Amino acid sequence: MRLNLFWKLGFAFFALLIAVLLPVDFYAERALRRDYERAGFEQLAAIARIALASPPQPSSLVPSHPEDSAALRGWVAKTAASNVRVTVIASDGQVLADSQSDPRTMESHAGRPEIRDALRKGDGQSIRHSVTVHSNLLYYAVRLSVAGGPPVVLRFALPLQTVEEEIWEFRRNLWLASLFVLLVTGTISLLISRSFAGRVERLQEFSRRVAQGDFRPLFADSAGDALDKLAVSLSETAARLDLTIRTVAVVDATDRVVFSNPGFAEILGLDMPPKIGSALVEAVRQTELIEAVRSVLRGEPAVHAEIVTGTVRQRFFAATAAAVRGGEKSGAVLVLHDISDLRKLERVRRDFVANVSHEFKTPLTAIQGFAETLLAGAIDDPQNRIHFLEVILEHSRRLARLTDDLLKLSKMDADRLELEIRRLSVSQFVESCIETTQRPAAEKDLRISVNLPARLPDIAADRLRLAEVLQNLLDNAMQYTPTGGQIVVSASADGAEVTFTVSDTGIGIPQADQPRIFERFYRVDVARSREVGGTGLGLSIAKHLVEVHGGRIWVESEVGQGSQFHFTVPIFDPERAALRSGR
Ligand code: ADP
Repeated sequence: MRLNLFWKLGFAFFALLIAVLLPVDFYAERALRRDYERAGFEQLAAIARIALASPPQPSSLVPSHPEDSAALRGWVAKTAASNVRVTVIASDGQVLADSQSDPRTMESHAGRPEIRDALRKGDGQSIRHSVTVHSNLLYYAVRLSVAGGPPVVLRFALPLQTVEEEIWEFRRNLWLASLFVLLVTGTISLLISRSFAGRVERLQEFSRRVAQGDFRPLFADSAGDALDKLAVSLSETAARLDLTIRTVAVVDATDRVVFSNPGFAEILGLDMPPKIGSALVEAVRQTELIEAVRSVLRGEPAVHAEIVTGTVRQRFFAATAAAVRGGEKSGAVLVLHDISDLRKLERVRRDFVANVSHEFKTPLTAIQGFAETLLAGAIDDPQNRIHFLEVILEHSRRLARLTDDLLKLSKMDADRLELEIRRLSVSQFVESCIETTQRPAAEKDLRISVNLPARLPDIAADRLRLAEVLQNLLDNAMQYTPTGGQIVVSASADGAEVTFTVSDTGIGIPQADQPRIFERFYRVDVARSREVGGTGLGLSIAKHLVEVHGGRIWVESEVGQGSQFHFTVPIFDPERAALRSGR
């Protein structure tokens, strides 16, 4: 493929060069020849003028005694210096003298066109092959009047040999130079086409890969040219395809697999991709898929279905089967979309609604029940009515707490939580939170202590929101720690954040529950939590508040030993604060 491209390009280039060179050669040769001939005739005319200026003795020009005219031979020899052939011809065509041959061996020249012209008009020229000297010659003839006799013709001739040689040399140079240019550009274009073809090959390989369902991106060559842009857009297309058709299979009209990508086999839990030509029913267990494909093959344009895979970790897929037609053939294409996240989200929402309803139901039922009892006559029972009213009050407080927490959550969900981030001293912050906790702690006979290092950097936080977090952890610690226990609040600086820790010597949290206690409504012991007035929302609110501050929250705990809740808050950074206030 690499060489193929090169030869194609090379051949086109070569043909172009020849197409240009042939007319150049043709016209240049003609122009050169004309030029040389004109120059030759001009040279001959100049020689003729010089010769006419000192013509031969008229006495030597008598045609009847040419053998006596040694003077004429001398004149001819003198004039013929410098490569020019000189001939003297009588008006009847008889050669009187010639610088290169014996005039007696020469035929009559009366018929030569230059001689005829010279006799008629005074001068004449022609180009001809000379039988006498066996080469092409340029002839130029002039008439010389002879006193008291007929005129003679002086003819001068130059061999064309040199002209031919020079033209030949020009042509040779033209072709040699072109060959050289061809070689140089050929080498260069071979190199270019190599890298070019290499890149095209990579693109080809890439599209083959994509066709087989491997959507990993192609790294562009950063050459910045059209090919590069093509690579980038192909990569983008692959990425988009990856998102939409990670899993696809095509079956023909007889329900047999024509194509399937690796994702298809993987998702359906097949050990290996279905063999090309195998029946779809053999490879796929999900009847919904098979049904969908069959209805499409029966003529429905598109069918949607949903399938679930896996037993431990369930995954949900939306399947779309659509008819395809390619020429005579028809079939169906089957595309699977992972919608597990969507389903999970839906479940969370459903669970949340169920939880909320459930949480409201208990106190509402209690309130309703006791109110009805009071109305039914218990209001006149001085012994119990106070107790009934207290229960009603307790449950309505609980409802108020629940609605409070739910409002907080909905505010956070809607991203309407506006933090007022300020510089905050850790010790002042901790002290102010502890103050409100001292009394209830003392009532439960719990000891609360603070353990802070001498120097701690200030933190960047919304004081009220962060107090809510710490307060919540302290409340939990008090609620889940039996009488006589101990609660310690500590903090330490580490890198760009301060880590707060609330540890207690309480009942602890089983390992299995630890990852889930930050979920909404999750409680280790529902009855116990209710008893102490918990809503199951406190930690999820705390987690959210810590995260909007840019921190993390986690727990370490052992059943029967106690729990440590940790959360981090960013250290105050004047530069970031300036940035924030500048916004
Ligand atoms: P709740 O209102 O029930 O306290 P939270 O979200 O604050 O709800 O806490 C969730 C659950 O985590 C609690 O029901 C409890 O089981 C457990 N938990 C929280 N803090 C502690 C702690 N300090 N010790 C033991 N268990 C705790």
